[in-house]
This record gives sequence, structure tokens and C-alpha cells, in this order.
Amino acid sequence: MNKEQLKRYNTGKIFWCVKCVVPSNYAQGIEFDDSGVCSGCRVAKEHYEEIDWVEWKNKFLNLIKPYVGKGNNYDCIIPVSGGKDSYYQTHIVTKELGLKPLLVTFHGDNYLPEAQMNLDRMKHLFNVDHHIFHVGKEALLKLHRAGFEMTGDMTWYMHSGIFTYPVRVAVMMKVPLLFWGEPPGVNRNGMYSHYDFIEMTRKFRTEHAQRGFDWTDFVGKYNIKENDMLWAKYPSDEELDTVGVRGIYLGNYFRWEQHEITKKMTELYGWQPKKTPYQRTYRIFGGIDDMHEIGVHDWLKFMKFGYGRCTDDASLDVRSGVLSRKEAIGLVKKHDPVYPSEDLGRWLDLTGYTKEEFDQICDKWRNKKIWNKGSKGDWYKDNIWDFPENSL
Ligand SMILES: [Zn+2]
Repeated sequence: MNKEQLKRYNTGKIFWCVKCVVPSNYAQGIEFDDSGVCSGCRVAKEHYEEIDWVEWKNKFLNLIKPYVGKGNNYDCIIPVSGGKDSYYQTHIVTKELGLKPLLVTFHGDNYLPEAQMNLDRMKHLFNVDHHIFHVGKEALLKLHRAGFEMTGDMTWYMHSGIFTYPVRVAVMMKVPLLFWGEPPGVNRNGMYSHYDFIEMTRKFRTEHAQRGFDWTDFVGKYNIKENDMLWAKYPSDEELDTVGVRGIYLGNYFRWEQHEITKKMTELYGWQPKKTPYQRTYRIFGGIDDMHEIGVHDWLKFMKFGYGRCTDDASLDVRSGVLSRKEAIGLVKKHDPVYPSEDLGRWLDLTGYTKEEFDQICDKWRNKKIWNKGSKGDWYKDNIWDFPENSL
């Protein structure tokens, strides 16, 4: 970190990257170099300036050669939600590589109509088999409540299922290769470099997607039984080794820029973003397979860390040149503090909480290093969004 950042750090204050808008208390690992630039910006430079993507596609083709084209099974599994990344993954696999995939979806039952339509069309557009899994209604309700109160993430079950169920199917169907989309912790915050070629593993699933919790933590709570969570049991090492399962991120080998992907998938396949604007960010092409992701779910992130989805989106867009830093700061100030009234009603109807109960439980998740309580019981933050022009 630079001198001014260090000064702030030493007094326990938050500071921001001098290039984008990520804060020093970013939810996953982040570092700052001597000039005050974050690891997310540094890794983005690899993506936009250093890597020869033609060469890296060849690395990928060599990597998959021993696994594909056997002719008696699926070549790979593609975990898909129906989002723009899912379309791009399937486009690469079927149209560019000519492989036969099995699409696998862990359906969280929170889809916006646009997202459901995108998902339903995939089997026809790409002429592929598609396996979709739903959790039963009562278990789903219990999981929403348990996730909210135990982990501060009402859609914990989705993050678990998305990174568990397709791996279970890979073992059941004896298909070693899973092709995931964008590698996590790379473009967003630079916790890993593109040169690390990370793969999806049990460690990532448990520590990041599941926030350190596992299905065993839920059994016996909120009347959740073990057989409510069969979908969440990750295969054993022995089962994974027998099939030779590997979780490859296509975003390690193919240029993965969200605006470019959205444009291409819209033009080629008529992929649809959200029809109306979000309250909590300005991008309309993310989160549509979970209508609460950028609503009540993101509000909890705001309680825990003092920033929300717009900070992530704007930082990515500064790095890709879509936004100036000044524009990004304006958007963050506009969107991050907005109360999620758009999707809250649906979630309260689903789970049976009152709005007062929701607010009270959210307050329990507020990080008291960030949030202060005023004399009238109102919450305020004293050092968030005081982005100086040349930010600390
Ligand atoms: Zn940065």
C-alpha cells in the first residue's frame, strides 16, 4: 500500500484502490502494491495487455486432448444457470470445439422470467442434453431461513448446490471434465493470477462458495434433516479419483470480458438481460438466475462489508475501460446504499418473516467496525464513500 493508505490502515480505517473502487476490506483476499493499486487491477492487466489468447486456447486444446472424443459418453459436463456466461461456455464447447456436453443446472427456484426463458432455450439452441435439479419446496424454505440466520446468506444453498451438484453428476455419469466459466478470485480481486491456472476443487467450494460451512452444519437446525441435503454431499476423494474429475475454468483459457460476452450471446442467440433496471447496480446482465442476488442477498453484504454489488461491477468496468473512475464512484454512491425493496416482498412472502424481523436480523450482521448507531437508532457509516479525488 502507499503511504497514505498505510496511515489509514494503521488507524483502522478503510481505504480504496487508487485505480478502481474496491475497498481494503474486500470480502475475499485483496492486496495493494506500493503505488496503492489493488491486486484486482494488477491481474486485469494480465487479461487485457499481456496474455496472447490464441496461444492460451492452444494450451487448453492440449489439456483436454486425452479426455475428449472417446465417442461412448459425454465429452464434458457444463454447469449452467442460463446466464450469459453459461451461453458462452456452451457456445465454445459445442460451436468452437464440436464437443458433446451434458448441461447440468442446480436450479435455485429464484429465477426471473427472463432467466428462465434463457435457460429453457439452451437445449434447443445448442442441441444438447440438459439435466436440471430442483430442491423440494419444504426443504428449500428451511434452507432459506437457516442460510439467512446462520450464515448471513439466504441463498447459501444455491452457492453450495451450484458447486456440488454438477460434480456429483460427473461422478455418477463417469464424465471427468467439468467446464466452469470465469475463474473466481482472479478478475474481481486478483487473489489468484491467470498464470496460476486454478481449477475448481472441494477447497474452493467449501471455503469460498459455502463460506466455510458444509451441509453437516445445517442438519438438526431449523428442522433440516440429512435427507434434505443429499444434493449437497460432495463426492469423496476416492470417487473423484476413480473418475478422474477435473474442474477446468474456461475463463483461464479464453478472454472473458462480461460486456463482450453479453453482446456476442445476444447477437448470436437472442440471450436476454433483465428487462428493467436493478436498484443496487447499473448492470442488467448479471444475477438474473437469482432474483435476490443483487437485492436482499447483496444487502447483507452491505451490512457485513459496507459495500455492495455495484462496487464489484464498477471496479471491473474501470479495469476494462468501460467506466472512468469518477463515473464508477458516482455509481457506487448511487446504488450501494439502496434498500432492496424490489425483491424483499417476494422473499418475505416465501419465508414468512415480517419486514421488521428481516431488518432486525440484518442488523445482527452489521459490521460494528463500519456501522455506528445514532441517538435515534439510525445506522450510519463514517468513513465509507469518502473517496477523495485521488483516492487513498
Ligand atoms: Zn484496483
